[in-house]
Amino acid sequence: LAAKYQHNATNLLAILRAVQARFHYIPEAAITTLADLLSIPRTQILAVAEFYSFFHLTPKGQYEVFISDSITDHMLGKHELMAYLSERLQVAVGEVRADGLVSLDNTSCTGLCDQGPAGLVNGLALTNLDKARIDLIAELINQQKPLSEWPKHLFAVNDNIQQTGLLLASAITPGQGLTTTFTRGITQTLAEIDLSGLRGRGGAGFKTALKWRFCSEEPETERYVVCNADEGEPGTFKDRVLLNSYAEQVFEGMTIAAAIIGAKQGFLYLRGEYLFLYEKLLALLEQRRQAGLLGQNILGQGITFDIEICLGAGAYICGEESALIESLEGKMGIPRNRPPYPVSSGYLGKPTIVNNVETYLAAAAIAVNGGAWFANLGTEKSKGTKILSISGDCKRPGIYEVPFGITVQAVLDLCGADDVFGVQIGGPSGMFISNQELHRKLAFEDLATGGSFIIFDNSRELLAIVKNFTHFFAHESCGFCTPCRVGTSLLQKQLDKIVDGHGSAGDVVALEELCRLIKQYSHCGLGQTAANPILTTLERYPEIYQAQLKQISYEPGFDLDAALATARRLANRDDAGAHLAQIGEEHD
Ligand code: SF4
Repeated sequence: LAAKYQHNATNLLAILRAVQARFHYIPEAAITTLADLLSIPRTQILAVAEFYSFFHLTPKGQYEVFISDSITDHMLGKHELMAYLSERLQVAVGEVRADGLVSLDNTSCTGLCDQGPAGLVNGLALTNLDKARIDLIAELINQQKPLSEWPKHLFAVNDNIQQTGLLLASAITPGQGLTTTFTRGITQTLAEIDLSGLRGRGGAGFKTALKWRFCSEEPETERYVVCNADEGEPGTFKDRVLLNSYAEQVFEGMTIAAAIIGAKQGFLYLRGEYLFLYEKLLALLEQRRQAGLLGQNILGQGITFDIEICLGAGAYICGEESALIESLEGKMGIPRNRPPYPVSSGYLGKPTIVNNVETYLAAAAIAVNGGAWFANLGTEKSKGTKILSISGDCKRPGIYEVPFGITVQAVLDLCGADDVFGVQIGGPSGMFISNQELHRKLAFEDLATGGSFIIFDNSRELLAIVKNFTHFFAHESCGFCTPCRVGTSLLQKQLDKIVDGHGSAGDVVALEELCRLIKQYSHCGLGQTAANPILTTLERYPEIYQAQLKQISYEPGFDLDAALATARRLANRDDAGAHLAQIGEEHD
């Protein structure tokens, strides 16, 4: 294995994946041997193996089954199904069966919220789980049937494209974007991307042309193109569809980017949950090499560029660009200090652009159709269209391409959602909006989103949703900085106390203070947004939190404000500033 991967430690994740496929865990002896062969400390390998949730240092079952713990799976009956699966497989959740045949556990969102309850078996996606499918899965496992002989319908993943627009309705043909780029000229193509107003589609919204220009102007000439296909935000699954049905165009966008910034190597960082796409993508890359669209002297233009696919291993934090780069280098996915930004110091310390799958897809289309074609749609600061992943309580979950600036209500009408209680925009790290805000617009000016759009109707319990999201962040914190590592865990405990009916008014105040502390002092976006589910719902529905509190009051018996009455009289003041805000008043 070490030889296959050129004894290069940047390939550590791929090597560990192969070791685990052989032994169903990563044995001590393998770590010691690899340390020697890759010339890196044993502790470094151990740390990496411990960091990623899909790696294990103790034996797992020959069949390793995970069920998604995403809120949408819960809404589709995940809790009962998990209990049923556990019973049918005769293994407890989090355990390995005594005969070593099967292990069962929860995992974070698998990117299949439109066709859940979903799960994974030995890394491959299982969709639309119900009791009948679980019976079949249990039987296949007990018969020790190889996965290659399992019925195909168990692994069927549908695109569920419900509405196409500018991008999805007019996919370009292989080579079309590159041909247009070379004909028009590389500088002029960058100018068209600039004119289009394209901003990063992962959610942050940095101007794409600006990022590419900064990178191309770096003095260091060894540069890299990275496609972030690690969409781990619960409720997001659009990149899955783009890579299943529009991957040629994504690769084309990456190649155009490489021509613009002068990169020879690109990486597509594919989330581990999308293992089912891996072989297909490899085959597509090979086809492009054969067609002269990748490799040496692309389309006879003297440009060399190739793309490698790197699989993640179950770490949400690797969706953060600097953590993703660390992971590409074979390390734990811990976000770097910034600056320097990846455009000047990214992969192996070299200038690197990291963009979302949808961004490359759009860039390729803009290269063909021009900037004005794209900029004609959308709003002033949010040009073009946005591809949404819609799930939850609606008749038609799936993929929708909509113009930026569309109202939430218009999106709800498209997907057939009635009796709406609220919508989680942009996943748990985004914002929960109430049914009083459906006039708001999807755009960087109002509700920015990477694409996740989860709908909740009036039958849903708000605090169960918030609890699921808060537990998700506590689980996914990389543990690097204290405010997030300790804070998300405390947040989880404090929220559970309230949700379980053991909280007092003071607990809600403490919860809010903790939220602000984590938001302010965490090192990266995960910690800075981990409290959003609580903060955005506490702001909108304080009465739901209050209704959960014990009636015992732990507020001080001493009324400080009343005690200050003498001071107010002596100072001849009775304005609002001379009074202390009371806990209850802050939420009225
Ligand atoms: Fe890691 Fe959380 Fe700190 Fe980010 S904020 S570096 S995820 S511990």
